[in-house]
Amino acid sequence: MSENYLKKYPTKEGFYKEYGGAFLPPALEEEMKKITDAYFAISKSHNFISELRSIRKHYQGRPTPVYYCNRLSEKYGGRIYLKREDLNHSGAHKLNHCMGEALLARYLGKKKLIAETGAGQHGVALATAAAYFGLECEIHMGEVDIAKEHPNVVRMEILGAKVVPVSKGLKTLKEAVDSAFEAYLKDPVNTIYCIGSVVGPHPFPMMVRDFQHVVGVEAREQFQDMTGELPDSVVACVGGGSNAMGIFSGFIDDEEVALYGVEPGGRSMKTGDHAATMMKGKPGIIHGFKCYLLQDEDGNPSPVYSIASGLDYPGVGPEHSMLKDIGRVNYDMVTDKEAIDAFFELSRLEGIIPALESAHAVAYALKLAQKDPRKSVLVNLSGRGDKDIDFVVENYGKQYGIE
Ligand SMILES: *Cc1c(COP(=O)(O)O)cnc(C)c1O
Repeated sequence: MSENYLKKYPTKEGFYKEYGGAFLPPALEEEMKKITDAYFAISKSHNFISELRSIRKHYQGRPTPVYYCNRLSEKYGGRIYLKREDLNHSGAHKLNHCMGEALLARYLGKKKLIAETGAGQHGVALATAAAYFGLECEIHMGEVDIAKEHPNVVRMEILGAKVVPVSKGLKTLKEAVDSAFEAYLKDPVNTIYCIGSVVGPHPFPMMVRDFQHVVGVEAREQFQDMTGELPDSVVACVGGGSNAMGIFSGFIDDEEVALYGVEPGGRSMKTGDHAATMMKGKPGIIHGFKCYLLQDEDGNPSPVYSIASGLDYPGVGPEHSMLKDIGRVNYDMVTDKEAIDAFFELSRLEGIIPALESAHAVAYALKLAQKDPRKSVLVNLSGRGDKDIDFVVENYGKQYGIE
């Protein structure tokens, strides 16, 4: 089981080999230490664990099912399975770490949760958690994403969160992180920055992974119950890498299971046209931690793009950076076009509309299935596509027969 690996990483200082750590202004060092201590305290506490278990079962609807895709497998070959995180409450895997982060915030006596959001999923999940625990919530979001992900903006507001539009730079995820970080710096005592992925300074990459670990644990057991064996491969999309770490961590000590992280190849491999951090980046520092980073010669983060707003981040989780170097996970990419095709394939063959982020993982699974039809592939279907339907129909509807 995955106990060996998970005990080994990160180190006490939050390093995964050379990646991770906490490169912070002095004002925040103390705060991060408090958060780390609190996390270790509550993660050993019986009350905390049983409260989180109860929330997962009665509020989130866990365990989410594993589903065998009959028609998709018939058409593409292979045996294709989905871990249905789209059925997790609020429509994506993100609530798994948001409920954990909010529980921690309550333990620390914080009044307000602050975060960034790309596609709006993290914002919706955090606003959900804030409502559940009776905390204030402030979500920073790039103006480009606000326009693209309108339903999620409205959802956050209905849930009682304040949405702060960010108009700097490319007006997408990276600028939203910068803006949320600034807001947090103004009052770190009463607020907590709830990072939306396995990124940021220690202890966030570790905490978010641990909160997502449930996905991998459930999936491993469910897959074995269904088939009597382990999957040949496990596939997940990688933005910051939280849904991928969640499912990978369940299989990481099973050397015979191949793990694939799928990055957004966007519209071309020109700088600014993709966000394939692991494929094209070099080690660097962003938002307080070291990781593979798409950057210019001076180490400034490069502009990034993906059709999936939740994937367009120039950095990536430090643990993924290490897993690439040690060769335990294979990283590859899928283009916008391939993701859109997969979005319609899954919708029309299985009746499941995936998030554009998750459609990247589906697209890659279809390639694996075609390559070797004898094998089984388990996809982490990280979220549902309701948030994307207006955008997809407006831009691609005609090609797929929608007038
Ligand atoms: C946010 C999001 C992602 C990307 O985030 P990771 O941290 O890489 O998992 C993927 N899928 C969905 C549905 C999302 O909302």
